[in-house]
Amino acid sequence: MNIVMIASECVPYAKTGGLADVVGALPVELQKLGHQVMVVMPKYSFIDGERFNLRPFLSPLGVWMGDTLEWCAVHVTDHHGLPVYFIEFDQYFNRWGLYHDADFNDYLDNPRRFGFLTRAGLQLCRDIHFAPDIVHVHDWHTALAAAYLKIWHWNDPVLGKAASVLTIHNIAYQGIYDARHYPYLGLQWINFTPDKLEDHGRINFLKGGIVYADMVNTVSPTYARETRTPEGGYGLAPYLNDKGENYIGILNGVDYNRWNPETDPMIPMRYSAKDLSGKAVCKRELQRRFSLNVDANIPIIGVVSRLVTQKGLHLLAQAIEDILNNMRVQFVILGAGEKELESFYSSLPARYPGRVGGYIGYNEELSHWIEAGADFFIMPSLSEPCGLNQMYSLKYGTLPIVRAVGGLDDTVQQYDEASAAGTGFKFWEASPRAIYYTVGWAISTFFDRREHIQQMIQTAMAQDFSWERSAGEYVRLYERAIANKQSSKG
Ligand code: ADP
Repeated sequence: MNIVMIASECVPYAKTGGLADVVGALPVELQKLGHQVMVVMPKYSFIDGERFNLRPFLSPLGVWMGDTLEWCAVHVTDHHGLPVYFIEFDQYFNRWGLYHDADFNDYLDNPRRFGFLTRAGLQLCRDIHFAPDIVHVHDWHTALAAAYLKIWHWNDPVLGKAASVLTIHNIAYQGIYDARHYPYLGLQWINFTPDKLEDHGRINFLKGGIVYADMVNTVSPTYARETRTPEGGYGLAPYLNDKGENYIGILNGVDYNRWNPETDPMIPMRYSAKDLSGKAVCKRELQRRFSLNVDANIPIIGVVSRLVTQKGLHLLAQAIEDILNNMRVQFVILGAGEKELESFYSSLPARYPGRVGGYIGYNEELSHWIEAGADFFIMPSLSEPCGLNQMYSLKYGTLPIVRAVGGLDDTVQQYDEASAAGTGFKFWEASPRAIYYTVGWAISTFFDRREHIQQMIQTAMAQDFSWERSAGEYVRLYERAIANKQSSKG
């Protein structure tokens, strides 16, 4: 298959979230399976052209936006054997950030910026005669590609056979904008209706993508189900339900080249499921580094997270002091985010000396240390489209304690006391009480049924959430998209 991915982010060039990891990893796996893949993204001014070996590729590229013809340039780099094309258009991408300025104010022309990126990606295919079987787009930023293909390019010699696939990484971000931007996007007023692109008088990019795409997916099966409900769908549940079987969930993969205790260069000592002695060393070093009481017999619970409400860390904040006062346990907390949560969590080490360690900020090395050195890893998320940390934790034999939502529910198997089966501890209620008792359950298992913990560690470390596995599912998704496209063309 010929596949083009158009996206606003791609690791390692530009990243704010999991979307960038997917766009960086999935194309490489697809290429390994024998497909031809190219990626198109913006040339943000902060991308270091020298470091990433960007070369001029095509100039000029003319892109029609409504009645305006915009001229941009295209650069290219080699990304593990496939091309990533960067759209250079200073008016839109010569900015401090991807989506907002340093004060977190969204750029007011975001609909134009990403509408333009989307059309530029399609136009590039035409200019270089790359006839895609699949145009795969991500989140609201590039969702409109599905609409452009159906409205304008259905008979195009290059784009006419392309089926569209939209991946939703987080349904809370939909790209809803004032209708005054609509003419620039060039999608015809006849399509500005509630069943297509209009949303209470405004434009909704993600909804448009959902309606027009040949297949839609999100990043876990449970999140796919949750988003079909009124509370989980943020207004889009009816459109997702309309897709029927053409809306599914596929778990993200993990980059086991970076997250593997057998090869991880960042952790104090490497280890494997066969020989866990290195994990004990990692625990001891973690306790030392955070001035915790060095004791192999006290369980450590790790947190690595954005400190935001979505992650449920305000609920943990309400439970953690009761936990510390009543249980033999230590915590190591790494995160940054909302000021209130930052100041709460940064106050704990002084109040619970030797029992709580914390670091406010982003620190990749520490995140590996915590995954390796902790016994448990807690994620009490309110919602979690897929989540990566619990999958890292499994690989490091650090048992997850999670709220059973989205990808957390799909990747963690509940502990069964009768058989010692399972890979972690799950709860359902979004409350401090549920966190308190589930942590208590994990801690008492640690002290009273240590052999069960050992067995769970073995089961956890044997789980496979590799990209190889997910890429196979994406290929099947593409095949269905192509079949849908063909049947809609008659
Ligand atoms: P989300 O994308 O919603 O933040 P995920 O679990 O999918 O949640 O991914 C979070 C990623 O960011 C993980 O790789 C995690 O290790 C990393 N991360 C989050 N906060 C920090 C931090 N303070 N320091 C280092 N890494 C962090």
